[in-house]
Amino acid sequence: MKFEIKVYPDPVLRKKAEDVREINDEIIEILDIMKDMMYSYKGIGLAAEQIGLTKKLVVIDLMPDGKSELMQLINPEIIESEGIYEEHEEGCLSVPGYYDVVRNRKKGVKVKYIDRDGNDRVIETDDFISVVLQHEIDHLNGTLFVDRLSPIRRNVFKKEWKKIQKERQEAQ
Ligand SMILES: [Zn+2]
Repeated sequence: MKFEIKVYPDPVLRKKAEDVREINDEIIEILDIMKDMMYSYKGIGLAAEQIGLTKKLVVIDLMPDGKSELMQLINPEIIESEGIYEEHEEGCLSVPGYYDVVRNRKKGVKVKYIDRDGNDRVIETDDFISVVLQHEIDHLNGTLFVDRLSPIRRNVFKKEWKKIQKERQEAQ
């Protein structure tokens, strides 16, 4: 299977992902491909929609202290949340070259998911990974971090994005 990172405004990034019903060889292979792509693009998280697949699959590795701490989440879902980060800077492999401040992410989340071995798991965190989990689970619902910018910042994004795309085309 050959995949590429889907870049805004690719319509697949707006699709809602479907539940994974069976963890078969194909799902495991996709998780491994996602992991490899996340590392090769130096991301800290990747959702399946970002490689064009509408399945509820997410990989995350924040590389704490430069060491790998890979999470592979199947059907992740936020079941509880509390508190608010007023502002938090985010970027995305599907919006390359643009970073901005997202407002009102939850500070703490409790997320249930299935791991690649089929075990039910729950992660509860109010650390930075909480924002990454929200960002990736947003992808599964067709939402991008730029959708969560204030109206003023969103206008800035639209202008900046035109510039970024133009520069990219010229570089090719
Ligand atoms: Zn993203």
